[in-house]
Amino acid sequence: MANRVYNFNPGPATLPLSVLEKMQQEMLDYRGTGMSIMESSHRAPEFDQINEETITLVRELLGLDENYHVLFLGGGASTQFATIPMNFLHGNKTAAYVDTGSWSSKAIKEAKGLGTVEVVASSKDSSFDHIPDLSNLKLDDNTAYLHLTSNNTIFGTQYQSFPDTGNIPLICDMSSDIASRVHDFSKFSMIYAGAQKNLGPSGVTLVVLRDELLKSAKDDIPIIFRYATHADKKSLYNTPPSYPIYVLNLVLHWIKDQGGVAGVEKVNRAKMEHLYQMMDLNPDYYRGTVKTDSRSWMNVTMRLPNEDLEKKFIAEAKEAGMVGLKGHRSVGGIRASIYNAFPKEGVDHLVEFMEKFKAAN
Ligand SMILES: *Cc1c(COP(=O)(O)O)cnc(C)c1O
Repeated sequence: MANRVYNFNPGPATLPLSVLEKMQQEMLDYRGTGMSIMESSHRAPEFDQINEETITLVRELLGLDENYHVLFLGGGASTQFATIPMNFLHGNKTAAYVDTGSWSSKAIKEAKGLGTVEVVASSKDSSFDHIPDLSNLKLDDNTAYLHLTSNNTIFGTQYQSFPDTGNIPLICDMSSDIASRVHDFSKFSMIYAGAQKNLGPSGVTLVVLRDELLKSAKDDIPIIFRYATHADKKSLYNTPPSYPIYVLNLVLHWIKDQGGVAGVEKVNRAKMEHLYQMMDLNPDYYRGTVKTDSRSWMNVTMRLPNEDLEKKFIAEAKEAGMVGLKGHRSVGGIRASIYNAFPKEGVDHLVEFMEKFKAAN
């Protein structure tokens, strides 16, 4: 498509072109219903079919069995920061959190307002430039759950593996790297992700949680905030974000067509290797901001020799058809977000541009 840019936005982010085209194709008449699915009742058989199929696709792609509930909720990942402790932090228990940057810090802040929280590891003292080593982490039996943020969208760090927590539920915010590479997802009691980075548009948050965890939830909180309410009704207790769920369905089909999570992982690996290799060859010019062993596959962060060059880089990249490269306002620099749907050719284009830019400046 002639006038589409390479969109490095951190979220909402680029979607597969084929998904956008399908949305366009089905916009006015969804499969013979004479209306858009956006205009359809969430109780209509057409929507029910989408809902059921999307649940099945999530289970299939993440390798989760029937012990997991799959929910599609509103309110973004940030609402989960509050509803997790509301549901699961009770009695005299303590919730354990690892602080790896802005999003985990926000999750911690919410939980602190609702119960006892212990930050069991943190990389705050080194400006969140790495993932703390959790191999010797000892959790008290009294721990309600351990909460992690798998990929730190703003700082550009990512867990390369996850700890075994035994009987203690492991809960993970996977908003910015869900379904980007293969993991044993069954070691998590709960995973959640705002869809707008790796899975679709904003407006829907994917929540998967194990039945055992669900059963342990507090039941004297408002009905709308109980996970059980939404699990019992397959996310149809009230009107769900129906159009975003439809787009999520299309994106999951797209992932399946790429060869599933293993298929997108292969492309994601090639993308990030190409970009980090470029930086490693020019470490004084394109300086990575995080420790090598904590590098994110999804958000590649770097600094140039000075801020004027960074501004020039962003402006000239835009002229060359690449947008969204400005680092988060809290950290500055350059950030290339290369989620599942970001094409390999876009990374090649960026690397070529970086070579030229360095030679000219
Ligand atoms: C973007 C992001 C969030 C916030 O998601 P909202 O849907 O805006 O609430 C939370 N966690 C991580 C890791 C993110 O990248």
